[in-house]
Amino acid sequence: MAGFGVDPGAYAAAGRAVHSPVTGEAIGHVADTEPMAMVAIVARAAEAFVTWRLVPAPRRGEFVRLLGEELRAAKAALGRLVTLEVGKVPSEGEGEVQEMIDICDFAVGLSRQLQGLAIPSERADHRMMEQWHPAGVVGVITAFNFPVAVFSWNAALALVCGDAVIWKPSEKAPLTALAVQALVARAAARFGGVPDGLVTVVTGGRAIGEMLVDDPRIAVLSATGSTRMGRAVGERVARRFGRAILELGGNNASIVTPSADLDLAVRAIAFGAMGTAGQRCTTLRRLIVHESIYDALVPRLAKVYRGVSVGNPLSGAVLVGPLVDAAALEAMQKALEAAKAAGGTVTGGEPVSVDGCEGGAYARPALVEMPAQVGPVLEETFAPILYVLKYRDFAEAVALQNGVPQGLSSSIFTNDFREAERYLSAAGSDCGIANVNMGTSGAEIGGAFGGEKETGGGRESGSDAWKGYMRRMTSAINYGTSLPLAQGVRFDVE
Ligand code: NAD
Repeated sequence: MAGFGVDPGAYAAAGRAVHSPVTGEAIGHVADTEPMAMVAIVARAAEAFVTWRLVPAPRRGEFVRLLGEELRAAKAALGRLVTLEVGKVPSEGEGEVQEMIDICDFAVGLSRQLQGLAIPSERADHRMMEQWHPAGVVGVITAFNFPVAVFSWNAALALVCGDAVIWKPSEKAPLTALAVQALVARAAARFGGVPDGLVTVVTGGRAIGEMLVDDPRIAVLSATGSTRMGRAVGERVARRFGRAILELGGNNASIVTPSADLDLAVRAIAFGAMGTAGQRCTTLRRLIVHESIYDALVPRLAKVYRGVSVGNPLSGAVLVGPLVDAAALEAMQKALEAAKAAGGTVTGGEPVSVDGCEGGAYARPALVEMPAQVGPVLEETFAPILYVLKYRDFAEAVALQNGVPQGLSSSIFTNDFREAERYLSAAGSDCGIANVNMGTSGAEIGGAFGGEKETGGGRESGSDAWKGYMRRMTSAINYGTSLPLAQGVRFDVE
Protein backbone atom coordinates (compact mmCIF):
# COMPACT_ATOMS: atom_id res chain seq x y z
CA MET A 1 0.00 0.00 0.00
CA ALA A 2 2.80 2.38 0.86
CA GLY A 3 4.13 1.68 -2.66
CA PHE A 4 1.03 3.37 -4.07
CA GLY A 5 1.64 6.39 -1.88
CA VAL A 6 -1.14 5.59 0.60
CA ASP A 7 -0.49 6.96 4.08
CA PRO A 8 -0.03 3.84 6.29
CA GLY A 9 -2.30 5.48 8.87
CA ALA A 10 -5.20 5.08 6.42
CA TYR A 11 -5.13 1.30 6.57
CA ALA A 12 -3.46 0.53 9.87
CA ALA A 13 -5.76 2.63 11.99
CA ALA A 14 -8.27 1.27 14.40
CA GLY A 15 -11.31 0.66 12.25
CA ARG A 16 -13.20 -1.98 10.32
CA ALA A 17 -11.00 -5.03 9.73
CA VAL A 18 -10.41 -5.99 6.09
CA HIS A 19 -10.04 -9.76 5.71
CA SER A 20 -8.27 -11.42 2.81
CA PRO A 21 -10.42 -14.24 1.44
CA VAL A 22 -7.16 -16.07 0.65
CA THR A 23 -6.38 -16.83 4.29
CA GLY A 24 -9.19 -15.18 6.20
CA GLU A 25 -6.60 -13.03 7.98
CA ALA A 26 -7.02 -9.32 8.60
CA ILE A 27 -4.76 -7.45 6.14
CA GLY A 28 -5.71 -3.95 7.21
CA HIS A 29 -8.05 -1.79 9.22
CA VAL A 30 -9.87 1.07 7.57
CA ALA A 31 -11.92 3.58 9.51
CA ASP A 32 -15.38 4.37 8.15
CA THR A 33 -15.91 7.94 6.98
CA GLU A 34 -17.61 9.92 9.73
CA PRO A 35 -21.28 10.44 8.79
CA MET A 36 -20.94 14.03 10.01
CA ALA A 37 -18.15 14.60 7.47
CA MET A 38 -20.34 13.62 4.50
CA VAL A 39 -22.07 17.02 4.24
CA ALA A 40 -18.74 18.77 3.74
CA ILE A 41 -17.43 16.05 1.40
CA VAL A 42 -20.42 16.41 -0.92
CA ALA A 43 -20.17 20.21 -0.74
CA ARG A 44 -16.51 20.05 -1.75
CA ALA A 45 -17.36 17.77 -4.69
CA ALA A 46 -20.14 20.14 -5.75
CA GLU A 47 -17.64 23.03 -5.75
CA ALA A 48 -15.12 20.95 -7.71
CA PHE A 49 -17.82 20.26 -10.28
CA VAL A 50 -18.49 23.96 -10.81
CA THR A 51 -14.83 24.44 -11.83
CA TRP A 52 -14.32 21.14 -13.67
CA ARG A 53 -17.39 21.52 -15.92
CA LEU A 54 -15.74 24.56 -17.53
CA VAL A 55 -12.45 22.78 -18.32
CA PRO A 56 -12.59 21.87 -22.05
CA ALA A 57 -13.57 18.24 -22.44
CA PRO A 58 -10.39 17.19 -24.37
CA ARG A 59 -8.36 18.71 -21.52
CA ARG A 60 -10.40 16.67 -19.04
CA GLY A 61 -9.53 13.72 -21.24
CA GLU A 62 -5.85 14.49 -20.68
CA PHE A 63 -6.34 13.97 -16.94
CA VAL A 64 -7.92 10.58 -17.62
CA ARG A 65 -5.08 9.74 -20.02
CA LEU A 66 -2.60 10.40 -17.20
CA LEU A 67 -4.67 8.21 -14.88
CA GLY A 68 -4.44 5.45 -17.49
CA GLU A 69 -0.65 5.86 -17.49
CA GLU A 70 -0.53 5.54 -13.70
CA LEU A 71 -2.64 2.41 -13.92
CA ARG A 72 -0.34 0.92 -16.57
CA ALA A 73 2.65 1.50 -14.32
CA ALA A 74 0.86 0.02 -11.30
CA LYS A 75 -0.86 -2.87 -13.11
CA ALA A 76 1.04 -5.73 -11.48
CA ALA A 77 0.95 -4.24 -7.97
CA LEU A 78 -2.70 -3.26 -8.09
CA GLY A 79 -3.64 -6.61 -9.62
CA ARG A 80 -1.91 -8.35 -6.74
CA LEU A 81 -3.76 -6.21 -4.25
CA VAL A 82 -7.03 -7.22 -5.94
CA THR A 83 -5.98 -10.85 -5.48
CA LEU A 84 -5.19 -10.30 -1.82
CA GLU A 85 -8.30 -8.32 -1.04
CA VAL A 86 -10.97 -10.28 -2.95
CA GLY A 87 -9.21 -13.55 -3.81
CA LYS A 88 -9.15 -13.44 -7.62
CA VAL A 89 -6.50 -15.52 -9.35
CA PRO A 90 -3.61 -13.29 -10.56
CA SER A 91 -4.56 -13.18 -14.26
CA GLU A 92 -8.05 -12.05 -13.28
CA GLY A 93 -6.70 -9.53 -10.76
CA GLU A 94 -4.47 -8.01 -13.44
CA GLY A 95 -7.25 -8.37 -16.00
CA GLU A 96 -9.39 -6.14 -13.84
CA VAL A 97 -6.70 -3.44 -13.88
CA GLN A 98 -6.38 -3.87 -17.66
CA GLU A 99 -10.10 -3.13 -17.88
CA MET A 100 -9.45 0.14 -16.03
CA ILE A 101 -6.71 1.03 -18.51
CA ASP A 102 -8.99 0.17 -21.44
CA ILE A 103 -11.84 2.36 -20.21
CA CYS A 104 -9.40 5.25 -19.66
CA ASP A 105 -8.25 4.92 -23.29
CA PHE A 106 -11.88 4.81 -24.41
CA ALA A 107 -12.74 7.88 -22.35
CA VAL A 108 -9.81 9.88 -23.75
CA GLY A 109 -11.16 9.40 -27.29
CA LEU A 110 -14.65 10.10 -26.05
CA SER A 111 -13.53 13.46 -24.65
CA ARG A 112 -13.50 14.75 -28.25
CA GLN A 113 -16.77 13.07 -29.18
CA LEU A 114 -19.39 14.22 -26.66
CA GLN A 115 -21.47 15.14 -29.63
CA GLY A 116 -24.94 16.59 -29.74
CA LEU A 117 -27.33 16.89 -32.69
CA ALA A 118 -28.44 19.47 -35.25
CA ILE A 119 -32.18 18.98 -35.86
CA PRO A 120 -34.22 20.37 -38.79
CA SER A 121 -36.84 22.85 -37.56
CA GLU A 122 -40.38 23.07 -38.99
CA ARG A 123 -40.21 26.87 -38.59
CA ALA A 124 -38.57 29.14 -41.20
CA ASP A 125 -35.24 30.71 -40.18
CA HIS A 126 -34.96 28.47 -37.16
CA ARG A 127 -32.41 25.93 -36.12
CA MET A 128 -32.72 23.27 -33.43
CA MET A 129 -29.96 21.51 -31.60
CA GLU A 130 -29.22 19.24 -28.72
CA GLN A 131 -26.18 19.59 -26.46
CA TRP A 132 -24.83 17.45 -23.66
CA HIS A 133 -23.70 19.22 -20.51
CA PRO A 134 -22.03 17.81 -17.38
CA ALA A 135 -24.59 16.42 -14.93
CA GLY A 136 -23.04 17.27 -11.54
CA VAL A 137 -21.66 15.11 -8.76
CA VAL A 138 -21.75 11.38 -9.52
CA GLY A 139 -21.97 8.99 -6.55
CA VAL A 140 -20.51 5.56 -7.25
CA ILE A 141 -21.31 2.62 -4.94
CA THR A 142 -19.46 -0.57 -5.86
CA ALA A 143 -19.63 -4.28 -5.03
CA PHE A 144 -16.78 -6.36 -3.64
CA ASN A 145 -16.31 -8.58 -6.68
CA PHE A 146 -15.00 -5.93 -9.08
CA PRO A 147 -13.36 -3.73 -6.48
CA VAL A 148 -11.65 -1.36 -8.93
CA ALA A 149 -12.93 -1.89 -12.50
CA VAL A 150 -16.51 -0.79 -11.83
CA PHE A 151 -15.26 2.46 -10.29
CA SER A 152 -13.28 3.17 -13.44
CA TRP A 153 -16.19 2.35 -15.80
CA ASN A 154 -18.06 5.14 -14.04
CA ALA A 155 -15.28 7.56 -13.15
CA ALA A 156 -13.40 7.63 -16.47
CA LEU A 157 -16.61 8.56 -18.27
CA ALA A 158 -17.88 10.92 -15.57
CA LEU A 159 -14.57 12.82 -15.48
CA VAL A 160 -14.40 13.45 -19.23
CA CYS A 161 -18.10 14.36 -19.10
CA GLY A 162 -17.18 17.13 -16.62
CA ASP A 163 -18.55 15.61 -13.41
CA ALA A 164 -17.06 15.20 -9.94
CA VAL A 165 -17.05 11.71 -8.41
CA ILE A 166 -17.56 10.39 -4.88
CA TRP A 167 -16.81 6.67 -4.62
CA LYS A 168 -17.98 4.37 -1.86
CA PRO A 169 -16.33 1.01 -2.40
CA SER A 170 -17.60 -2.19 -0.81
CA GLU A 171 -16.79 -2.41 2.89
CA LYS A 172 -15.15 -5.73 1.97
CA ALA A 173 -12.68 -4.07 -0.42
CA PRO A 174 -11.60 -0.57 0.71
CA LEU A 175 -7.82 -1.16 0.36
CA THR A 176 -7.80 -1.35 -3.44
CA ALA A 177 -9.95 1.80 -3.42
CA LEU A 178 -7.38 3.66 -1.30
CA ALA A 179 -4.65 2.52 -3.70
CA VAL A 180 -6.65 3.80 -6.69
CA GLN A 181 -7.26 7.08 -4.88
CA ALA A 182 -3.48 7.47 -4.54
CA LEU A 183 -3.03 6.82 -8.28
CA VAL A 184 -5.69 9.44 -9.04
CA ALA A 185 -3.75 11.89 -6.87
CA ARG A 186 -0.54 11.14 -8.82
CA ALA A 187 -2.33 11.74 -12.12
CA ALA A 188 -3.77 14.97 -10.72
CA ALA A 189 -0.31 16.21 -9.69
CA ARG A 190 1.10 15.48 -13.16
CA PHE A 191 -1.92 17.20 -14.71
CA GLY A 192 -1.01 20.34 -12.80
CA GLY A 193 -3.76 20.02 -10.24
CA VAL A 194 -7.49 19.36 -10.37
CA PRO A 195 -10.12 21.02 -8.17
CA ASP A 196 -10.01 19.83 -4.57
CA GLY A 197 -12.68 17.13 -4.10
CA LEU A 198 -12.95 16.17 -7.79
CA VAL A 199 -12.54 12.48 -6.91
CA THR A 200 -13.17 11.45 -3.31
CA VAL A 201 -13.22 8.00 -1.73
CA VAL A 202 -15.51 7.54 1.26
CA THR A 203 -15.41 4.32 3.25
CA GLY A 204 -18.02 2.40 5.15
CA GLY A 205 -21.07 0.24 4.65
CA ARG A 206 -24.71 0.75 3.90
CA ALA A 207 -25.12 3.82 6.14
CA ILE A 208 -22.49 5.83 4.24
CA GLY A 209 -23.96 4.60 0.94
CA GLU A 210 -27.38 5.83 2.01
CA MET A 211 -26.01 9.30 2.62
CA LEU A 212 -25.04 9.46 -1.05
CA VAL A 213 -28.34 7.93 -2.11
CA ASP A 214 -30.41 10.53 -0.26
CA ASP A 215 -28.34 13.64 -1.01
CA PRO A 216 -30.05 15.85 -3.62
CA ARG A 217 -26.63 17.28 -4.59
CA ILE A 218 -25.72 13.88 -6.07
CA ALA A 219 -27.10 14.23 -9.61
CA VAL A 220 -26.33 10.67 -10.69
CA LEU A 221 -26.08 7.70 -8.36
CA SER A 222 -24.50 4.65 -9.90
CA ALA A 223 -24.92 1.58 -7.70
CA THR A 224 -23.53 -1.88 -8.38
CA GLY A 225 -24.46 -4.80 -6.18
CA SER A 226 -27.27 -7.14 -5.25
CA THR A 227 -30.85 -6.72 -6.42
CA ARG A 228 -31.84 -6.25 -2.76
CA MET A 229 -29.51 -3.24 -2.54
CA GLY A 230 -30.69 -1.89 -5.91
CA ARG A 231 -34.35 -2.08 -4.96
CA ALA A 232 -33.69 0.03 -1.86
CA VAL A 233 -31.40 2.48 -3.66
CA GLY A 234 -33.61 2.83 -6.76
CA GLU A 235 -36.69 3.71 -4.71
CA ARG A 236 -34.85 6.26 -2.59
CA VAL A 237 -33.17 7.99 -5.52
CA ALA A 238 -36.50 8.11 -7.40
CA ARG A 239 -38.16 9.72 -4.37
CA ARG A 240 -35.89 12.75 -4.76
CA PHE A 241 -36.09 12.64 -8.59
CA GLY A 242 -32.39 11.84 -8.86
CA ARG A 243 -30.97 9.69 -11.62
CA ALA A 244 -29.89 6.14 -10.77
CA ILE A 245 -27.74 3.79 -12.82
CA LEU A 246 -28.39 0.34 -11.35
CA GLU A 247 -26.12 -2.64 -12.10
CA LEU A 248 -27.52 -5.53 -10.11
CA GLY A 249 -27.56 -9.30 -9.88
CA GLY A 250 -27.69 -11.73 -12.78
CA ASN A 251 -28.85 -15.30 -13.31
CA ASN A 252 -27.16 -15.92 -16.61
CA ALA A 253 -27.83 -18.82 -18.94
CA SER A 254 -26.25 -20.46 -21.97
CA ILE A 255 -28.17 -22.62 -24.42
CA VAL A 256 -26.26 -25.49 -26.03
CA THR A 257 -27.93 -26.59 -29.26
CA PRO A 258 -27.53 -29.79 -31.31
CA SER A 259 -25.16 -28.11 -33.81
CA ALA A 260 -22.85 -26.64 -31.13
CA ASP A 261 -19.07 -27.11 -31.23
CA LEU A 262 -18.83 -28.99 -27.93
CA ASP A 263 -15.06 -28.58 -27.51
CA LEU A 264 -15.46 -24.84 -27.64
CA ALA A 265 -18.58 -24.95 -25.48
CA VAL A 266 -16.87 -26.93 -22.70
CA ARG A 267 -14.05 -24.37 -22.45
CA ALA A 268 -16.45 -21.41 -22.49
CA ILE A 269 -18.78 -22.99 -19.94
CA ALA A 270 -15.88 -23.82 -17.62
CA PHE A 271 -14.60 -20.24 -17.58
CA GLY A 272 -18.08 -18.73 -17.41
CA ALA A 273 -19.27 -20.89 -14.53
CA MET A 274 -16.12 -21.46 -12.46
CA GLY A 275 -13.98 -18.38 -13.22
CA THR A 276 -13.71 -15.86 -10.35
CA ALA A 277 -15.10 -18.73 -8.21
CA GLY A 278 -18.56 -17.98 -9.58
CA GLN A 279 -18.47 -14.45 -8.19
CA ARG A 280 -19.10 -12.38 -11.29
CA CYS A 281 -22.41 -10.71 -12.01
CA THR A 282 -22.11 -12.36 -15.44
CA THR A 283 -21.15 -15.81 -14.10
CA LEU A 284 -22.86 -18.63 -15.97
CA ARG A 285 -25.45 -20.06 -13.56
CA ARG A 286 -27.81 -22.04 -15.82
CA LEU A 287 -26.98 -24.34 -18.72
CA ILE A 288 -29.85 -25.30 -21.01
CA VAL A 289 -28.82 -28.33 -23.08
CA HIS A 290 -30.61 -29.99 -25.98
CA GLU A 291 -31.63 -33.55 -25.11
CA SER A 292 -29.82 -34.98 -28.17
CA ILE A 293 -26.38 -33.86 -26.95
CA TYR A 294 -26.98 -33.95 -23.19
CA ASP A 295 -25.13 -37.23 -22.70
CA ALA A 296 -22.21 -36.09 -24.84
CA LEU A 297 -21.78 -32.81 -22.97
CA VAL A 298 -22.75 -33.18 -19.31
CA PRO A 299 -20.42 -36.09 -18.37
CA ARG A 300 -17.53 -34.16 -19.99
CA LEU A 301 -18.37 -31.16 -17.87
CA ALA A 302 -18.64 -33.31 -14.76
CA LYS A 303 -15.10 -34.54 -15.41
CA VAL A 304 -13.84 -30.95 -15.70
CA TYR A 305 -15.64 -30.07 -12.46
CA ARG A 306 -14.05 -32.98 -10.63
CA GLY A 307 -10.56 -32.06 -11.86
CA VAL A 308 -10.41 -28.26 -11.74
CA SER A 309 -7.73 -26.86 -9.41
CA VAL A 310 -9.14 -25.15 -6.34
CA GLY A 311 -6.82 -23.41 -3.92
CA ASN A 312 -4.68 -20.46 -2.89
CA PRO A 313 -4.77 -18.04 -5.85
CA LEU A 314 -1.21 -16.97 -5.04
CA SER A 315 0.13 -20.47 -5.45
CA GLY A 316 0.49 -20.81 -9.21
CA ALA A 317 -1.62 -23.14 -11.28
CA VAL A 318 -4.91 -22.58 -9.46
CA LEU A 319 -8.00 -21.67 -11.51
CA VAL A 320 -10.58 -21.39 -8.72
CA GLY A 321 -9.74 -19.28 -5.69
CA PRO A 322 -11.75 -18.69 -2.52
CA LEU A 323 -15.24 -17.40 -1.95
CA VAL A 324 -15.29 -13.98 -0.38
CA ASP A 325 -16.14 -15.20 3.13
CA ALA A 326 -17.68 -17.95 5.24
CA ALA A 327 -21.17 -16.55 4.72
CA ALA A 328 -20.79 -17.04 0.95
CA LEU A 329 -19.75 -20.67 1.48
CA GLU A 330 -22.73 -21.21 3.74
CA ALA A 331 -25.09 -19.68 1.16
CA MET A 332 -23.62 -22.02 -1.45
CA GLN A 333 -24.17 -25.09 0.73
CA LYS A 334 -27.74 -24.01 1.47
CA ALA A 335 -28.51 -23.58 -2.22
CA LEU A 336 -27.11 -27.05 -2.95
CA GLU A 337 -29.30 -28.55 -0.21
CA ALA A 338 -32.34 -26.81 -1.67
CA ALA A 339 -31.42 -28.08 -5.15
CA LYS A 340 -31.14 -31.64 -3.86
CA ALA A 341 -34.49 -31.30 -2.13
CA ALA A 342 -35.96 -30.23 -5.48
CA GLY A 343 -34.60 -33.37 -7.19
CA GLY A 344 -31.17 -32.11 -8.26
CA THR A 345 -28.09 -34.33 -8.68
CA VAL A 346 -24.91 -32.61 -7.52
CA THR A 347 -21.33 -33.16 -8.74
CA GLY A 348 -18.76 -31.34 -6.58
CA GLY A 349 -19.77 -28.42 -4.38
CA GLU A 350 -18.07 -29.61 -1.20
CA PRO A 351 -15.95 -27.31 0.98
CA VAL A 352 -12.21 -27.70 0.29
CA SER A 353 -9.51 -27.38 2.92
CA VAL A 354 -6.44 -25.58 1.55
CA ASP A 355 -3.08 -25.90 3.29
CA GLY A 356 -2.00 -22.66 4.89
CA CYS A 357 -5.38 -21.07 4.09
CA GLU A 358 -7.49 -22.67 6.79
CA GLY A 359 -9.30 -19.38 7.46
CA GLY A 360 -10.39 -19.07 3.80
CA ALA A 361 -13.73 -20.30 2.41
CA TYR A 362 -12.93 -22.64 -0.48
CA ALA A 363 -15.31 -24.94 -2.34
CA ARG A 364 -15.20 -27.22 -5.35
CA PRO A 365 -17.50 -25.76 -8.01
CA ALA A 366 -20.83 -27.58 -8.28
CA LEU A 367 -22.55 -28.94 -11.37
CA VAL A 368 -26.18 -29.62 -10.58
CA GLU A 369 -28.48 -31.52 -12.94
CA MET A 370 -32.03 -30.32 -12.30
CA PRO A 371 -35.32 -31.87 -13.37
CA ALA A 372 -36.93 -28.42 -13.65
CA GLN A 373 -36.23 -24.71 -13.27
CA VAL A 374 -37.42 -24.33 -9.67
CA GLY A 375 -36.25 -23.20 -6.22
CA PRO A 376 -32.64 -22.01 -6.08
CA VAL A 377 -32.34 -22.04 -9.90
CA LEU A 378 -34.47 -18.89 -9.97
CA GLU A 379 -32.11 -17.03 -7.64
CA GLU A 380 -28.58 -15.69 -7.87
CA THR A 381 -26.37 -17.53 -5.36
CA PHE A 382 -23.01 -15.76 -5.52
CA ALA A 383 -20.92 -18.94 -5.75
CA PRO A 384 -19.81 -21.44 -8.42
CA ILE A 385 -23.01 -23.43 -8.92
CA LEU A 386 -24.08 -24.35 -12.44
CA TYR A 387 -27.59 -25.76 -12.81
CA VAL A 388 -28.14 -27.92 -15.89
CA LEU A 389 -31.53 -28.26 -17.57
CA LYS A 390 -32.64 -30.28 -20.59
CA TYR A 391 -34.72 -28.90 -23.49
CA ARG A 392 -36.49 -30.33 -26.55
CA ASP A 393 -37.20 -27.42 -28.89
CA PHE A 394 -35.69 -24.02 -29.40
CA ALA A 395 -38.70 -22.03 -28.19
CA GLU A 396 -38.67 -23.99 -24.94
CA ALA A 397 -34.97 -23.21 -24.44
CA VAL A 398 -35.49 -19.48 -24.91
CA ALA A 399 -38.52 -19.53 -22.61
CA LEU A 400 -36.48 -21.29 -19.92
CA GLN A 401 -33.62 -18.84 -20.31
CA ASN A 402 -35.92 -15.82 -20.06
CA GLY A 403 -38.07 -17.36 -17.33
CA VAL A 404 -36.18 -15.85 -14.38
CA PRO A 405 -36.47 -12.40 -12.76
CA GLN A 406 -32.94 -11.30 -13.75
CA GLY A 407 -31.81 -10.20 -17.24
CA LEU A 408 -28.07 -9.55 -17.38
CA SER A 409 -26.12 -11.90 -19.67
CA SER A 410 -26.86 -14.86 -21.92
CA SER A 411 -25.35 -16.89 -24.73
CA ILE A 412 -26.05 -19.60 -27.27
CA PHE A 413 -23.75 -22.24 -28.70
CA THR A 414 -24.89 -23.04 -32.23
CA ASN A 415 -23.62 -23.37 -35.77
CA ASP A 416 -27.12 -22.93 -37.12
CA PHE A 417 -27.32 -19.44 -38.56
CA ARG A 418 -31.10 -19.23 -38.21
CA GLU A 419 -30.99 -20.25 -34.56
CA ALA A 420 -28.31 -17.68 -33.78
CA GLU A 421 -30.23 -14.87 -35.45
CA ARG A 422 -33.52 -15.85 -33.81
CA TYR A 423 -31.72 -15.81 -30.47
CA LEU A 424 -30.49 -12.26 -31.08
CA SER A 425 -33.85 -11.05 -32.45
CA ALA A 426 -36.61 -9.24 -30.54
CA ALA A 427 -38.19 -12.65 -29.84
CA GLY A 428 -34.95 -14.14 -28.50
CA SER A 429 -32.89 -13.43 -25.41
CA ASP A 430 -34.37 -10.75 -23.12
CA CYS A 431 -30.99 -9.88 -21.56
CA GLY A 432 -28.78 -6.80 -21.84
CA ILE A 433 -25.99 -9.04 -23.15
CA ALA A 434 -26.52 -11.92 -25.62
CA ASN A 435 -23.49 -13.70 -27.10
CA VAL A 436 -23.03 -16.37 -29.75
CA ASN A 437 -20.51 -19.21 -29.39
CA MET A 438 -18.96 -17.79 -26.26
CA GLY A 439 -19.81 -17.62 -22.59
CA THR A 440 -21.80 -15.10 -20.58
CA SER A 441 -18.88 -13.45 -18.78
CA GLY A 442 -15.77 -11.53 -19.77
CA ALA A 443 -17.28 -8.49 -21.48
CA GLU A 444 -15.11 -5.89 -23.23
CA ILE A 445 -15.39 -2.23 -22.31
CA GLY A 446 -16.37 -1.08 -25.83
CA GLY A 447 -20.00 -2.18 -25.50
CA ALA A 448 -22.64 -0.83 -23.15
CA PHE A 449 -22.71 -3.09 -20.09
CA GLY A 450 -25.82 -3.87 -18.05
CA GLY A 451 -29.04 -5.82 -17.94
CA GLU A 452 -32.81 -5.74 -17.82
CA LYS A 453 -35.53 -6.67 -15.31
CA GLU A 454 -34.16 -7.17 -11.76
CA THR A 455 -30.63 -6.46 -13.05
CA GLY A 456 -31.74 -2.83 -12.90
CA GLY A 457 -31.72 -1.51 -16.48
CA GLY A 458 -28.55 0.60 -16.10
CA ARG A 459 -25.81 0.80 -18.72
CA GLU A 460 -22.15 1.59 -18.07
CA SER A 461 -18.84 1.50 -19.89
CA GLY A 462 -18.76 1.74 -23.70
CA SER A 463 -21.09 2.65 -26.58
CA ASP A 464 -23.21 5.68 -25.60
CA ALA A 465 -23.32 4.90 -21.87
CA TRP A 466 -21.61 8.30 -21.36
CA LYS A 467 -24.98 9.97 -21.86
CA GLY A 468 -25.97 8.70 -18.41
CA TYR A 469 -23.39 11.08 -16.90
CA MET A 470 -24.57 14.22 -18.71
CA ARG A 471 -27.72 16.27 -18.99
CA ARG A 472 -29.35 16.90 -22.33
CA MET A 473 -30.27 20.42 -23.44
CA THR A 474 -32.57 21.00 -26.44
CA SER A 475 -32.44 24.48 -27.97
CA ALA A 476 -34.33 26.25 -30.76
CA ILE A 477 -32.73 29.38 -32.25
CA ASN A 478 -34.64 31.94 -34.31
CA TYR A 479 -32.39 33.84 -36.72
CA GLY A 480 -35.28 35.50 -38.58
CA THR A 481 -37.47 38.53 -37.88
CA SER A 482 -40.86 36.84 -37.55
CA LEU A 483 -42.07 34.55 -34.82
CA PRO A 484 -43.80 31.51 -36.36
CA LEU A 485 -45.20 29.16 -33.73
CA ALA A 486 -44.84 25.40 -33.96
CA GLN A 487 -47.80 23.28 -35.07
CA GLY A 488 -49.28 26.37 -36.87
CA VAL A 489 -50.57 27.85 -33.62
CA ARG A 490 -51.55 31.55 -33.91
CA PHE A 491 -51.29 34.00 -31.02
CA ASP A 492 -51.26 37.47 -32.59
CA VAL A 493 -51.07 40.48 -30.30
CA GLU A 494 -50.77 44.15 -31.34
P1 NAD B 1 -24.11 -5.79 -1.96
O1 NAD B 1 -25.44 -5.44 -2.53
O2 NAD B 1 -24.07 -6.49 -0.67
O3 NAD B 1 -23.23 -4.44 -1.77
C1 NAD B 1 -22.89 -3.63 -2.85
C2 NAD B 1 -22.60 -2.23 -2.37
O4 NAD B 1 -23.80 -1.59 -1.96
C3 NAD B 1 -21.66 -2.14 -1.17
O5 NAD B 1 -20.80 -1.05 -1.35
C4 NAD B 1 -22.61 -1.90 0.00
O6 NAD B 1 -22.01 -1.24 1.08
C5 NAD B 1 -23.67 -1.05 -0.65
N1 NAD B 1 -25.01 -1.09 -0.06
C6 NAD B 1 -25.68 -2.17 0.38
N2 NAD B 1 -26.94 -1.83 0.73
C7 NAD B 1 -27.06 -0.50 0.51
C8 NAD B 1 -28.11 0.44 0.67
N3 NAD B 1 -29.32 0.07 1.15
N4 NAD B 1 -27.90 1.73 0.34
C9 NAD B 1 -26.70 2.11 -0.16
N5 NAD B 1 -25.66 1.27 -0.33
C10 NAD B 1 -25.83 -0.02 0.00
O7 NAD B 1 -23.34 -6.62 -3.10
P2 NAD B 1 -21.95 -7.42 -3.02
O8 NAD B 1 -22.14 -8.66 -2.22
O9 NAD B 1 -20.84 -6.50 -2.67
O10 NAD B 1 -21.74 -7.82 -4.57
C11 NAD B 1 -22.31 -8.91 -5.19
C12 NAD B 1 -23.54 -8.50 -5.98
O11 NAD B 1 -23.22 -7.47 -6.91
C13 NAD B 1 -24.07 -9.64 -6.84
O12 NAD B 1 -25.48 -9.63 -6.77
C14 NAD B 1 -23.59 -9.29 -8.24
O13 NAD B 1 -24.36 -9.85 -9.28
C15 NAD B 1 -23.71 -7.80 -8.21
N6 NAD B 1 -22.88 -7.17 -9.24
C16 NAD B 1 -23.49 -6.65 -10.35
C17 NAD B 1 -22.72 -6.10 -11.37
C18 NAD B 1 -23.38 -5.55 -12.61
O14 NAD B 1 -22.72 -4.82 -13.32
N7 NAD B 1 -24.63 -5.87 -12.89
C19 NAD B 1 -21.33 -6.06 -11.25
C20 NAD B 1 -20.73 -6.59 -10.10
C21 NAD B 1 -21.52 -7.14 -9.09
